[in-house]
Amino acid sequence: MNEVLFESDLDKINLAKAPLAVFGYPINHSLSPIMQNKALEFLGLNESSIYYKFEVKPNTLKEVLPSFVAKNFRCINLTIPFKEEVLPLLDEIDDFAKMCGACNTLKIEDGKILGYNTDGFGLENAIKVKFGKTFWNACVLIYGAGGAAKAAAFQAGISGAKKIFIANRTIEKAQELAKNLRENGFNASSFEPNWAGKVDIIINATSIGLKDTDSSICDFSIFSKEAVYFDMVYAKQRKLNSIIEAENNGLKCSAGLDMLAWQGAKALQICFDFNEEVLFKVGKIMTKTLEDCIQ
Ligand code: NDP
Repeated sequence: MNEVLFESDLDKINLAKAPLAVFGYPINHSLSPIMQNKALEFLGLNESSIYYKFEVKPNTLKEVLPSFVAKNFRCINLTIPFKEEVLPLLDEIDDFAKMCGACNTLKIEDGKILGYNTDGFGLENAIKVKFGKTFWNACVLIYGAGGAAKAAAFQAGISGAKKIFIANRTIEKAQELAKNLRENGFNASSFEPNWAGKVDIIINATSIGLKDTDSSICDFSIFSKEAVYFDMVYAKQRKLNSIIEAENNGLKCSAGLDMLAWQGAKALQICFDFNEEVLFKVGKIMTKTLEDCIQ
């Protein structure tokens, strides 16, 4: 079940199964239905639930969402460009999504839409599983100041990072995000290269790397070899140039596939309320499914 559907397809799908979905524009590339349906199968829920992907046009969420609520969709994930557009449409929003100003997971209960953000959890858990590191007491450098960077920065903040540096092409946005973090009580500032030696965790939360011609996000020789590099971008059958450069400088690295899996596992946990042990198994299954897809 990985074909792209549209709102006009709603009458054609099997609503005997409690449906789940991801909305995006574009959405064709999304691997979410493959990993989510695999996890539903593992949970023994594939007879009662099914996960679809829908192409929804930007700025139409307000008109489109009620049709899905009326059809008893249980959970909807959101990717570009809906994470902010959805905010005024929510009945309730959890504290972390509010802090980030972005929401990637909707749970629909008794006709009410509850909003969550699982990107921060997805990132931190991917870092934990890949490197055995957490944000606690770490000095974290984030490249980017868009939605994904905000989730990364606030997750680092709530998980006890001792310092959060922001670097971004548009410097004003880096300064604004750092200010926002400080206003929430976190120790944050724009990045200055003379701090590079102190950085423990480097994160790419920009779009650099999506194109195979994109060069490395930075010169990794300025960092300690003990630092780790997590790139939120992932690519089919090619290594990102930033990862090549970071590895050449002795850093341990990971691309963004694990984050995609762990944010998806957390979203499914929100939807079905399973425990942490099951969450761990679901995350592992999703990671393996995605790895198989991109090989
Ligand atoms: P946004 O559009 O909100 O932000 C994009 C960011 O990338 C901005 O900081 C922008 O800088 C920067 N940027 C874009 N192009 C360039 C460039 N050519 N040179 C330098 N900086 C650039 O996107 P998101 O925050 O939603 O997503 C960012 C990335 O994270 C995407 O690649 C996305 O696929 C990935 N992602 C991965 C996830 C995963 O699960 N693995 C989850 C969520 C996101 P400026 O402010 O100057 O425009």
